[in-house]
Amino acid sequence: MIRTASHTRDLLPAALSNDGDASAFIHRFQLVESLARDWFRRYGFQEIRTPIFERAELFARGVGAETDIVTKEMYTWRDRAGDDGEGESLTLRPESTAPVARAYIQHQMWKRAETARLYYIGPQFRRERGQRGRYRQFFQIGAETLGASDHPALDVEGVELVMGILSDAGLRDLELRVNTVGDAETRPRFVAAIRQALADRLEELSDDSRRRFETNPLRILDSKAEQDQPLIAALPPIYDFLNDECRRHFDAVQRYLDAAGIPCVVDARLVRGLDYYTKTVFEVVSHAPSVGAQNALAGGGRYDGLVETLGGPPTKGFGFALGLDRVVLAMPEDRAPEERPDVFVIHLGEAAFERAVSVVRDARRAGVAALLDVTPRSLKGALRLANKLGARFALILGEAELVTEQWALRDLARGEQLSVPAGEWLRHITRTTAT
Ligand code: AMP
Repeated sequence: MIRTASHTRDLLPAALSNDGDASAFIHRFQLVESLARDWFRRYGFQEIRTPIFERAELFARGVGAETDIVTKEMYTWRDRAGDDGEGESLTLRPESTAPVARAYIQHQMWKRAETARLYYIGPQFRRERGQRGRYRQFFQIGAETLGASDHPALDVEGVELVMGILSDAGLRDLELRVNTVGDAETRPRFVAAIRQALADRLEELSDDSRRRFETNPLRILDSKAEQDQPLIAALPPIYDFLNDECRRHFDAVQRYLDAAGIPCVVDARLVRGLDYYTKTVFEVVSHAPSVGAQNALAGGGRYDGLVETLGGPPTKGFGFALGLDRVVLAMPEDRAPEERPDVFVIHLGEAAFERAVSVVRDARRAGVAALLDVTPRSLKGALRLANKLGARFALILGEAELVTEQWALRDLARGEQLSVPAGEWLRHITRTTAT
């Protein structure tokens, strides 16, 4: 048997799932996607769809050549040489901020609008060690605000969106963590202080942190290794190095969050894995028991240098990405009932079948979710199937019904059976299912 590649999975209709794993039920993904689209609409964000693969260089420059994503996790290959000359180095996108920034530059969006508000929903690819809540193909819902302004109110719009989507999805026990990572002026001072504080104690650090000391010292802050903890605790906080502008920005973000009624925890160690962040960074973690170790549901922040790094004009940016797989994992069971047929049409006998085919078509054209049982079976067997499928009604067409044009409509939820004129049965269904 050929199975899915390691740490990838199928998302399935619940009724066709063999192991009943609700975290892979497609309707739960669809629900979160549709409520996210509605939140984006309210905040004036429009959808963008960028290619699944991009030139490898985009991520090396945009995400940061020293990040874990770029050094270890990208699916990159050299394309075959063809009409376009040399085969290019291509990468399955590991994230979508760099692609959206690329599109912003390529389409010169700043000429059209002072602020571009874009969102995306789609798969991302990282060669990670898989576990519950961590896959090699996973889905993100994300948004980017690109343009002239770096007003802290724009940061808070992004955080509001994330919290709105998560709470609409029925998630509780959430914790919003915020921090600032400074800007191009303050960050080097902080990084220099980290280097100075740790230079004599390198042998006490974990292997990962020792490597990061060389490549990306800021990332030492979010090391989980036990042996690093006392050293990290002794580091000076970034707040000692902020300039007035960064400090004002961070204060304003907290003030606006407070005014929005969104509680947050200031976490001085929050730095996040991607290189492009400036000023605000944030993360939302879930403390729901179903989530497990991979409890970061969403993260993001400000990235005022990214567009310029990629060859565009100086542009301010703020964005976030929310891990759809993890949101679904944390979602309460009752938040996402699966779609069920409104009516299951049962035929008894050959002649009734012909009629059933046209009746079911009428129902569908009228917007009713209708299923036709094509297999001949006893009434009892057919009703059992209708119940199993969770249909609200069963329409029973037998010889007698065809003669009288009075149809037997069984309300499976209430356990009642009605006799309705053929011309009225659809109205009866739409009236009941609308309430
Ligand atoms: P990042 O792009 O790393 O900031 O990730 C943003 C969000 O995407 C995280 O908070 C996770 O919810 C989700 N995420 C990242 N990597 C994975 C993965 N390998 N599997 C599932 N979800 C992921």
